[in-house]
Amino acid sequence: MREQKLLKILKETFGYTTFRFEQHKIINAVLDGKDTLAIMPTGGGKSLCYQIPALYLNGVTLVVSPLISLMQDQVMNLMEVGVKAVFLNSSLSYQDAQKTKEKIKKGKVKLVYVSPEGILSGHLADFFKEVEISLIAIDEAHCVSQWGHEFRKDYTRLGELKDLFPDVPLIALTATADAKTRTDISEQLRMKSPEVFISSFDRPNINYMIQDREDELKQLDKFIKTYHPNDTGIVYCLSRDKVERVAVALKKIGHPAVPYHAGLSKEERTQNQERFNVDERIIVVATIAFGMGIDRPDVRFVAHLDLPKSIESYYQETGRAGRDGLPSTAWMIYGLQDVVKLSQMLATTMADESYKKVARHKLDCMLALCEAASCRRQFLLAYFGETGKENCNYCDTCLSPPVVWDATVDAQKIMSAIYRTQQIYGAGHVIDVIRGSKSSKVLERKHDELSVFGIGKDRPREHWDIILRQLMNLNYVSIKDWEYRSLCLNKKSLEILKGGQKLELRKQKIVIKKSDKKETSKTREVKHDHHDLFSALRDLRNNLAKEKKLPSYIIFNDKSLHDMCRLMPRNGDEFLMVHGVGQNKLEYYGDLFLKVIQEFSRNQPKRDGIGRT
Ligand code: ADP
Ligand code: ZN
Repeated sequence: MREQKLLKILKETFGYTTFRFEQHKIINAVLDGKDTLAIMPTGGGKSLCYQIPALYLNGVTLVVSPLISLMQDQVMNLMEVGVKAVFLNSSLSYQDAQKTKEKIKKGKVKLVYVSPEGILSGHLADFFKEVEISLIAIDEAHCVSQWGHEFRKDYTRLGELKDLFPDVPLIALTATADAKTRTDISEQLRMKSPEVFISSFDRPNINYMIQDREDELKQLDKFIKTYHPNDTGIVYCLSRDKVERVAVALKKIGHPAVPYHAGLSKEERTQNQERFNVDERIIVVATIAFGMGIDRPDVRFVAHLDLPKSIESYYQETGRAGRDGLPSTAWMIYGLQDVVKLSQMLATTMADESYKKVARHKLDCMLALCEAASCRRQFLLAYFGETGKENCNYCDTCLSPPVVWDATVDAQKIMSAIYRTQQIYGAGHVIDVIRGSKSSKVLERKHDELSVFGIGKDRPREHWDIILRQLMNLNYVSIKDWEYRSLCLNKKSLEILKGGQKLELRKQKIVIKKSDKKETSKTREVKHDHHDLFSALRDLRNNLAKEKKLPSYIIFNDKSLHDMCRLMPRNGDEFLMVHGVGQNKLEYYGDLFLKVIQEFSRNQPKRDGIGRT
């Protein structure tokens, strides 16, 4: 009985035919009245885990969400599929809040989104005590943990919910994986022997690419033009300055780019965020201030022009690509400066030593990902505890495996130079010395008299830059003094220098040949030849979006449009087979879209569609 009813809600309301990941188990645990902790990668479909129970159960589900924009987006999405949802937060006027409360009291609402401070404030808590609460969902639950990366003080009080609503089951949802955060969440929320569900972190539709930095703007432009010429994306940079610079440069060469960082005026930020929500194609160049609350499912690429400080951050940021499950790219470039800059930032923060140690370790893992000569996805999943995965045959290292070479001798040359110059100089000077430069600094210090002077003059400067970076990334060379960025040797260097250990490094300049891309089940999904139809449907969607002042993906996401092209439905029943189409969308939009499809197929020579072979 329950099963059938759940599937019915899934199909009729949300337009999906099967549950994803652990959704099904999670929903059942919630309906059994258990406290539940659901861990699912970004884009995995966490919302359904409480939205479906909300519709199934009598009464109202409270959803605690950290951001007003997130709440608004969710409520908009739900209203579009015909679910009665509202939010109660500081963006509402007194009158609107009163009206909303009236609706809730009259039992006209299934889901109420609230902020953490809101729900714990005396008057709202009192109000909800008078209402039948079926379930409480805590979204972005990692915010309760100081160990996590987005700690929010107002989340720490959420444990009080158990005092206020002792008999209401709790579901906490997050995409943050590590064990410490997990324990923190269930302890702080005082969950009663929670059921924990962890879904795989694999994002099979994301293609990972990491390249060496040569000319970042040129590389970015080329990447966009080659892989995503008509797509929406996010470009992350470390600093505000760089965000501005890159946004201007991209615009100049014809990409629809806008900047986003905390230093912009509130209006400008809102405006750019708004454009990101509604424009058909937009590239937001941003610092990580642009992050939480991004719900757009058709972000086709996330590009990093600077290295994130940990794999957790990298995974969260890249996870914003392809939430609709269609092929997307996580592209990043990195260079020697990143390593130096990030290490320096870390070394000069006021944080205590134990924190620095953790942070340094996280950065080292990030660098190891960059230098990895094996499958990137495998590496990432192993980092999150999923070992034993096959090569993905899709990331850059799988598609064009880096050639490794015996770099022992070159590494020894650099290490000797660091040693002979007393381990007090930075990369620039060390390379000058081995390349036999007659710079004034070299001459003044009489470094032209050293045995290592000029031992590397047969190779260009870039060659040594790259080796040095790899040595630092792999921890064969350390930085001794942050102010002067002076290099020094360590235990690991001695293994190479004296211990006779061989060192293999990856040959640089990863060339990615697009034509070599193997077809995966994910790329196949999109395949149809009806590009004209797709454009026509997209135009219709845009017009509707403008008319209704809604983001276009809320009407239908790209996956739904592709599905229409593939299936070419002829009537309402067939239209219901399209991904993301439920009763409500069929009623709202069915006729309009069917008409366009019909017109298109009339002008087509014979072809096959569903049920017509
Ligand atoms: P997150 O886990 O990041 O909160 P969402 O709940 O926003 O993810 O879901 C991401 C996307 O996946 C949404 O567009 C959602 O409608 C879609 N989705 C969720 N569950 C399913 C499902 N069972 N089948 C197909 N699409 C789904
Ligand atoms: Zn791979």
